[in-house]
Amino acid sequence: SIPLGYFGGIGAGSRRGILVKGGEYLDVLAEVDTVVFDKTGTLTTGRFEVTDVATNGELTIDELLRLAARVEMASTHPLAKAIVEHAGPVLPFTMIKEEPGYGLMAIDGEDRIYVGSARYVQKLGYPIPAETSGTIVHIVKNDRWLGRIELRDQVKPDAKDTIQALKRYGYQTVMLTGDRQKVAVAVGSAIGIDEVRSELLPHQKVAEIERLAETGKVAFVGDGLNDAAALARADVGLVMGGVGSDAAVTAADLVLMNDAPRDVVEAIELSRRTRRIVW
Ligand code: ADP
Ligand code: MG
Repeated sequence: SIPLGYFGGIGAGSRRGILVKGGEYLDVLAEVDTVVFDKTGTLTTGRFEVTDVATNGELTIDELLRLAARVEMASTHPLAKAIVEHAGPVLPFTMIKEEPGYGLMAIDGEDRIYVGSARYVQKLGYPIPAETSGTIVHIVKNDRWLGRIELRDQVKPDAKDTIQALKRYGYQTVMLTGDRQKVAVAVGSAIGIDEVRSELLPHQKVAEIERLAETGKVAFVGDGLNDAAALARADVGLVMGGVGSDAAVTAADLVLMNDAPRDVVEAIELSRRTRRIVW
């Protein structure tokens, strides 16, 4: 039987937009030592704006953007949404494969078009020019680098206060991201998080969770398709419910409907109160 206190805790959470999938998850949350965050869409808004476009001269800037958008139409990634919005209406390619944490590949007749991270392009064997400071999406066609799109989003307004509150409570705070080190370090130092790990593929996020779990209980907070495995592996998984991918929402134990980092603190406080009532 489930102690009555859990129903109280679950009910109080749901009135605040914190949905708990079962009383046992409140119990684990009350015992957590380390709180790990994804960056994009979790600590930052995930609403990107295109801030710069560079081409190798073969296509115009507009042509490059439209080509990228024809590929990104197949993706629900925040970068994809921003590129499609910026380029305006285009016809999507029909044969597209997405590689989480890397990007996408489209087949157009004889042509292969790749849209994604520097690591993706390098994995395919293409050298890429020196980079700027934002989040970068590269475009490669067959054996040629055609250009890159630089995008930026904003740190969520309550991200810094959330990290500071968690640190005051004595939690270790960590950020894991697939984005570039430069962007990750800038966000990490803006909010004062203890530890930053960047340029991680989805399975490397899981490995980081496992490393942290060796010394204590771990909560992971994420939103994307690329976070689903880490959400499942953590002792307790929390997902940004408004922007989160279906796979991430399914893998999580708690759903934060307001997409606000501060609700992580709220959920932890709720778990501690519930525990006092249950015991
Ligand atoms: P995060 O962990 O910050 O949520 P991801 O793992 O989703 O980041 O992505 C890591 C990097 O891979 C992105 O910064 C981008 O360069 C590239 N990437 C991933 N998905 C896409 C996509 N749909 N279109 C273009 N680039 C992508
Ligand atoms: Mg994310």
